[in-house]
Amino acid sequence: MSIAENLALVKANIARAAEAAGRDPAKILLIGATKMNDAARVREAVAAGLPACGENRVQELLEKHAQGAYEGAELHFIGSLQRNKVKYLVGLVRLIHSVDSVELMREIDRQARKRGLVQDILLEVNAAGEASKSGFAPEALPDMLAAAAQFPGLRVRGLMTIPPICAEETENLPYFLLLKQLFVDNGEKKYDNVSMDFLSMGMSGDYEAAVSCGANMVRVGTAIFGRRVY
Ligand SMILES: *Cc1c(COP(=O)(O)O)cnc(C)c1O
Repeated sequence: MSIAENLALVKANIARAAEAAGRDPAKILLIGATKMNDAARVREAVAAGLPACGENRVQELLEKHAQGAYEGAELHFIGSLQRNKVKYLVGLVRLIHSVDSVELMREIDRQARKRGLVQDILLEVNAAGEASKSGFAPEALPDMLAAAAQFPGLRVRGLMTIPPICAEETENLPYFLLLKQLFVDNGEKKYDNVSMDFLSMGMSGDYEAAVSCGANMVRVGTAIFGRRVY
């Protein structure tokens, strides 16, 4: 199957899952996880109608950006981020999905204010408590949201999670439901500098389940681009 055919299938699956949940498919952003795919393949996907690209590594993003890979699409950063790389992303990407510490928020704020802009971010929750994963424990979320008030150079726009890799699509439902709950509950509270607009969850194996649980951003790589060759 070509990238365009895969993309059409993924979009149709998202639309079906959204409609089944009584949601508007147009309000769900499909982000292509483009890691390990070169600029030509990314351009092919964008030309076929991929609305957004998400990269994991800053170096790879900068190289492919210089090659014009993302023209015509939104650019997001979805991988784990070191503080010393923040300066390359601020102002370049629409959204940094993977913010998991106050120190990282502080550096994003600093770089954004230097440039006179406000960087949108998501906070990454480690829903399953896996030691190997990035993100902070669900219990830490209120403190993270409260911390945003100190940082006028950023705005928290919602939550992101990467649940465990699993065999069955439904195995991650509890984590998706937990994120949805946190998203709704904390959206009702009034935190300075926070607006709960985006819930980023779901990958190739489980994006339909994520949509059924309320995701409005899904990050899909393999199902669009095929298996990555490492
Ligand atoms: C690679 C990646 C994805 C997509 O994974 P697939 O299983 O290939 O769809 C989503 N989110 C993040 C953070 C990723 O690194």
